[in-house]
Order: sequence, then C-alpha cells, then structure tokens
Amino acid sequence: MSSTRIVKVLRPITFGLRRVHRMGSGPFSRALLRSVAVVLCLCAISSNLACNKSRSPTDPGSANCGIYPDQASSPYVLPYPVGSSHQVIQGNCGSFSHQANSVNQFGYDFAMRLGTEVTATRGGTVVVAIEHRPENTGQYGDENIVVVDHGDGTYGRYLHFQTQGALVDVGDAVSPGDPVGLVGLSGFTVGPHLHFDVSMGCYEYEPRCPTVPVTFRNTSPHPNGLEEGRSYQAVPYS
Ligand SMILES: [Zn+2]
Repeated sequence: MSSTRIVKVLRPITFGLRRVHRMGSGPFSRALLRSVAVVLCLCAISSNLACNKSRSPTDPGSANCGIYPDQASSPYVLPYPVGSSHQVIQGNCGSFSHQANSVNQFGYDFAMRLGTEVTATRGGTVVVAIEHRPENTGQYGDENIVVVDHGDGTYGRYLHFQTQGALVDVGDAVSPGDPVGLVGLSGFTVGPHLHFDVSMGCYEYEPRCPTVPVTFRNTSPHPNGLEEGRSYQAVPYS
C-alpha cells in the first residue's frame, strides 16, 4: 500500500476517533485499542517510507522477522516503570507502519494513555529533546521526540510525546528507568501510544536510519521480539 493511499484510507478514521475523544469517552478501552490497532500505529516514520514494498507470503509478521539478541543479557528494559504493563499494538515487521524490509521494521508501538510516563530503556546521553510541537495535527514531522545515544552506535528513539512533554534535556545522562517523556498525540498518530525503536549508526528520520532488533530483559520471554497484541509487564531489574 502506498503512503498516499494509507493517508487517504486513514483520514476519515482519524476524524472518527477524534469524535470519540470529544464525546468524553475517556482513554481508549483495550477493546477499542485492539480493534483500531493498525490505525493507532501510524507513526512518524510511516508516511514517507517505501510502503509499497509488499510483504512476502511467508513473512510471519511480528514474529521471526529478524535475529534477536539474547534477552537475559539484553541492555534494554521496557520503556515504562516497573510494575506497569502495556500492550504492543504494533510489533516488529508490523502490518502497517513497521513493514518488513523497511528501515523502521523493528519499531514497537505500545498502547498508553495520555500522560503516561515513559522511561529510558537503556543508559546514555540525550541528543534530541523536542517538545514544542503541537498535538493533534496528525502530521508527519510534528512529533515531539527524545533520542538517547547509547554510546555504541545505537540510539533509542521515543516518539509522540505531549507538547512540553519531554522530561529530559539535550546533554542529560540517563539510566535505565529514568523518566524521559509523557505520552501525547504529536505527529503522525491518531491515538495515544509510544513508538520506540533503536536505530543504528544515526538517529535522523531524514535521511532515514535503519532500526535494529532488540529484546527487553525485564519481562516475559520473547525470543522473536515482543508480539503484537500481547501485553508485557515490566518486572524489577538490576
Ligand atoms: Zn510505530
């Protein structure tokens, strides 16, 4: 599906969801999240991707889409506080904006309510902290984003924060579990969620930097990456 077609298809759905929000229905229910998972997973990086690459008939989707590093020794923890649990509404090689063979195929989308605190998955230094962009525009490029340099050529990228929702500044050192931002509706998204991925070699979206597979050591086993549709609880880590 071309990116143009995706936008055409989703625009009316976007309006529908906004109407639901205006009606005061509060945070999206899990059932609704599930039913519109594909819609909610619209992320910044989807709009200009080579979305016309078709998936192989044998492509299993969110599972087995890459070689994943060992979970027990992973330097990464889930991007939310210990004790909390969130559903993956789009996994790696997801069906919508994390397509297989695209540069962002290893992105994860977590369903989170507005204002949910997002925490660092790994220690490093903040190299991007953008929080001035408006919300509810649905526009690619309006993302409020935090990027953490892990010091080994990889970068953790956290997207769609609230306006004024970055909790760190450029140059800050962060450790796993430190708050980095608050979930919002900035950028190319129609529902509150966190997009998290790890890029390699660079962190820019223009030109686009490739993402790499990661696992998280403080949750249940996921040898093929976190699975779309499942919820994962963050358990204590050392
Ligand atoms: Zn995403």
